[in-house]
Amino acid sequence: MRSIADVRAAVAEARSRDAAIGLVPTMGALHEGHLSLIRRARADTDFVVVSLFVNPTQFAANEDLGAYPRSEERDAALAAGAGADVLFAPSVEEIYPSGFATTIHVGGVTEVLDGEHRGPAHFDGVATVVAKLFQIVAPDSAYFGQKDAQQVLVIRRLVRDLDIPVRIVACPTVREPDGLAMSSRNVYLDPDERRRATALNRALDAAQAVVTGPQTSAASVLDAARRVLADAAIDPEYLELRSPHDLAEVHSIGDGALLAVAARVGRARLIDNRIMEAQ
Ligand code: AMP
Repeated sequence: MRSIADVRAAVAEARSRDAAIGLVPTMGALHEGHLSLIRRARADTDFVVVSLFVNPTQFAANEDLGAYPRSEERDAALAAGAGADVLFAPSVEEIYPSGFATTIHVGGVTEVLDGEHRGPAHFDGVATVVAKLFQIVAPDSAYFGQKDAQQVLVIRRLVRDLDIPVRIVACPTVREPDGLAMSSRNVYLDPDERRRATALNRALDAAQAVVTGPQTSAASVLDAARRVLADAAIDPEYLELRSPHDLAEVHSIGDGALLAVAARVGRARLIDNRIMEAQ
């Protein structure tokens, strides 16, 4: 479906049958990570809307909007196979018609990590488009990947602050057999970069391996991760240990801390994260 009106009509029809509505927002180029969200929505709800929209406002001018992989026909088949009832693939004009002038800025959790390194426009773009999707679909539940852990926190803040009545479900990161987190951007990697990219997940593993208890210092955890990245000639954009609740800086593991990493490998900007568990 291309139009907001068509999606609203399909959702209204489903609701008239008392169906619970699930929403899975994506930028397409679907992989098993996305499909895991769709399957979860299928299991939890009665009518599943998958949106496919490469949202221009969340890309900075120097980022990969033009190169972002697009494969709509294949995506439509994959989404339907995983249980989508509707694929909503609007044009940019449908979402941002001429005169569009509203931006939603979530504060706090957007100020660090990707918000700091990609610039504030990134999460403004995410929050605004997700708020629009919530208005269009009015889902009971919406599904997001823990791979984008900061995005989950931003969306949780958004729905709390604006009293949007939707349940936010965070789903585990789906990985390739060698541990690389699945991402639409992995197609940018050449074979050598693809091998080096596994260092992100291995760095998170190495960090977890040095955690002996709540007192384990952030410095020792970060050092263990940094060594693995350095061995793969990866200089991270950031590698930080933060509270999984509000992204405040933490100095020890406490009762669980989020280790988040972003790194450029060739043309691809990759992110990954792990909650460090105090053993
Ligand atoms: P994207 O198309 O990259 O914007 O991602 C759409 C949704 O899929 C977001 O909620 C992502 O967090 C989620 N997602 C992307 N990659 C993965 C993955 N490897 N595992 C689980 N969820 C993912």
